[in-house]
Amino acid sequence: MTQTIAAQATTIATFKSLKCKECGAEYEPKATHVCEFCFGPLEVAYDYDALRRTVTRETIQAGPNSIWRYRPFLPVATNNPIDVGTGMTPLVRANRLARRLGLKKLYIKNDAVNMPTLSFKDRVVSVALTRARELGFSTVSCASTGNLANSTAAIAAHAGLDCCVFIPADLEAGKVLGTLIYGPTVMAVQGNYDQVNRLCCEVANTHGWGFVNINLRPYYSEGSKTLGYEVIEQLGWELPDRIVAPLASGSLFTKIYKGFREFIEVGLVEEKHVRFSGAQAEGCSPIAQAFREERDFIKPVKPSTIAKSIAIGNPADGVYALEIARKTGGNIESVNDAEIVEGIKLLAETEGIFTETAGGTTVAVLKKLVEAGKIDPEETTVVYITGNGLKTQEAVQGYIGEPLTIEPKLESFERALERAQTLDRLEWQQVLV
Ligand SMILES: *Cc1c(COP(=O)(O)O)cnc(C)c1O
Repeated sequence: MTQTIAAQATTIATFKSLKCKECGAEYEPKATHVCEFCFGPLEVAYDYDALRRTVTRETIQAGPNSIWRYRPFLPVATNNPIDVGTGMTPLVRANRLARRLGLKKLYIKNDAVNMPTLSFKDRVVSVALTRARELGFSTVSCASTGNLANSTAAIAAHAGLDCCVFIPADLEAGKVLGTLIYGPTVMAVQGNYDQVNRLCCEVANTHGWGFVNINLRPYYSEGSKTLGYEVIEQLGWELPDRIVAPLASGSLFTKIYKGFREFIEVGLVEEKHVRFSGAQAEGCSPIAQAFREERDFIKPVKPSTIAKSIAIGNPADGVYALEIARKTGGNIESVNDAEIVEGIKLLAETEGIFTETAGGTTVAVLKKLVEAGKIDPEETTVVYITGNGLKTQEAVQGYIGEPLTIEPKLESFERALERAQTLDRLEWQQVLV
């Protein structure tokens, strides 16, 4: 009995401090995210020597079937994290999509089926709320483009934390409903995400709440590293040659990179050169524009695209994402709304995966890069699908045909079937000419 209590009381934290990404100043791991000296962003620093000594492939494989199998690489001090089954989503060998595009070895990392709210945001929120609880917050919050609000509300409900989330007022119905159902306070702000975020920064200063992507951002963002770890483990402890991922703030992109580097650093995977390709929607592509114009700074833009979940006009980690794309020999590309819809349909028709607009953006960028000869067909390529299409149904409405309405009679069915087959043949003839 006493032993159990003692074990629980022992801190098992493997992280030491928060460190400024710009000047290296160190801070105690509290709820803070900006350097007091240079205003650079803070990032969690770990004791990698200790991790190298204590973590092996076997200790990871013996862990839970969720992101928490990588707990020593995550910034929480409890051995009892909030585990709602987040992570360990399928890595699917996408042969039909690969053949369509002319690639040899293509994989989809499918976070469209992540738990509990069907987007990659469940990863970052599981980590942020576990840390929020450790730091003593009773109310959690976020500035969201939709998916983050879904995750924060759901996981807060599970953990018994009070929750108030902020979203732009014009979000898709599925995203709004998928937040309200968990019973948080929802503030629909009449403005775009960047305005929502600015408001939330002020609220964070005055209300003492834990904002997962503001004052808890250093912890939150570490959750995305698990998208890197899982791919390594699911490829049989190997790195791919290339990844393609969507960019909103750029955080996810930079943290997949950090995850890969960490596993190399502690000897869990052999070093390999991985190229990083990023995807943005043309209607909100400040990072792709900077890449194209060879700038090392981001010019903020006003978003206008159907890909609302990645519509951040002033991306916090934009410059770091640029740096990674450049130094790995990757690229950052954008596609328009019509291409995004085509991307959603292409993935659905070839692989049976229904993704949201962010995933449509990523698939369309993959296609564009292959067609431009910027991806070698021999490369092992992993494409990150980060959200579920059921949440953004508006985007494809009117582009996917209609069901055939028939009478409950055999002859009505036969007539409709014949019409459908004729239409199919005509479509094929059009493709062939
Ligand atoms: C938030 C989000 C992203 C990108 O997140 P960042 O880390 O801000 O770049 C990508 N896809 C989906 C579906 C998202 O909700």
